[in-house]
Amino acid sequence: MIALASPLAQFRVHETEIRAAIDRVLTANTYILGPEVAAFERAFAGYCGASHAVGVANGTDALILAMRALGIGQGDEVITVSHTALATVAAVVAAGATPVLVDVDPVYYTINPAGIEAAITDKTKAIIAVHLYGQAVDLPAIQAIARRHGLKLIEDCAQATGARLGDKVLGSMGDVGCFSFYPTKNLGGIGDGGMIVTSDQAVAERVRRLREYGWNEKREAQEIGVNSRLDALQAAILGVKLPHLDADNKRRAAIAARYDAGLAGLGLTLPAVRPGGRHVYHLYVLACGDRDGLQKQLAADGVGTGIHYPLPAHLQQGYESLVRLPKGGLPVTTALVFRILSLPMYPELGDEDAKRVVDAVRSRCKGAAAPRGIPATAL
Ligand SMILES: *Cc1c(COP(=O)(O)O)cnc(C)c1O
Repeated sequence: MIALASPLAQFRVHETEIRAAIDRVLTANTYILGPEVAAFERAFAGYCGASHAVGVANGTDALILAMRALGIGQGDEVITVSHTALATVAAVVAAGATPVLVDVDPVYYTINPAGIEAAITDKTKAIIAVHLYGQAVDLPAIQAIARRHGLKLIEDCAQATGARLGDKVLGSMGDVGCFSFYPTKNLGGIGDGGMIVTSDQAVAERVRRLREYGWNEKREAQEIGVNSRLDALQAAILGVKLPHLDADNKRRAAIAARYDAGLAGLGLTLPAVRPGGRHVYHLYVLACGDRDGLQKQLAADGVGTGIHYPLPAHLQQGYESLVRLPKGGLPVTTALVFRILSLPMYPELGDEDAKRVVDAVRSRCKGAAAPRGIPATAL
């Protein structure tokens, strides 16, 4: 069976270094925050080209604390997409704000700037731009909207660690960038972890307080916070992996290029890469009319696949009543759900296995020209 992702394969590659890092933490007598976390925060901020990085417990908390540090909460509206990991929308709810969900564009599947403009009200405080599947949203257009309307821009980089737009690393261009180190993400820990990066010192300092009950350096609370700390083991392990991130992302792109070449001309919609961006392929997501049939066939052929995501946030129980949608609904989001399929993608996936994936898809799909994006007839 070829897995969709394999954090274990990555552990094997770096096993000696990771075991040494774990050993170092075991005898350091500091297991939460401390010098290991501070060192990784410095390394990660440097990598992103931001002045500050603050480690937190997971990517969802990174989003929640970013919103809180920007002063967003009860009564405020935050514009984002329904076509994302539920975590994005759950974070807005947890921060006390109202998620206003707009549609994605039919080619890149990322937030449609035109939808943002139409959704802005006098309660709108921020946009969460999700760099979905590993590539940038239309950042220049979104930055312009944020500037024009005085909105904060939060980049949800959970799927795009190391991705770039021009020569800039994603996460460094909004007010705050939020990252997840969930084991299958491009930079994955061996457990939960998250990070915010920002070049706004006040925001960084506030997240530092919020992640520990609201404490300042004297351990006196100035406001109510939570417990959302990064632990030293995760920081040490992530510190081992960070220097390999660019090479890992390159390998992901090389696998994607093999898929692109091998799957052309089969009537499948292959991932579109935004010009000027570097896609890091957290996921390789194709689209086709007979998705369920293809997925079943691949499972029979020993190829693991996934659907990201099978149920948009606005249709999830408990959330549907809390979100606001545009008048026309979310036609692209809704159409995507039935068409998208994620193929195996992780840096350690070998060429042989990539070819097996291609052959399995080819044996199922024959003929027909490849449409670009979701066909209008599907909307
Ligand atoms: C994974 C993910 C998150 C949440 O990260 P966790 O570490 O799992 O809390 C948020 N947004 C997106 C787009 C994600 O893929």
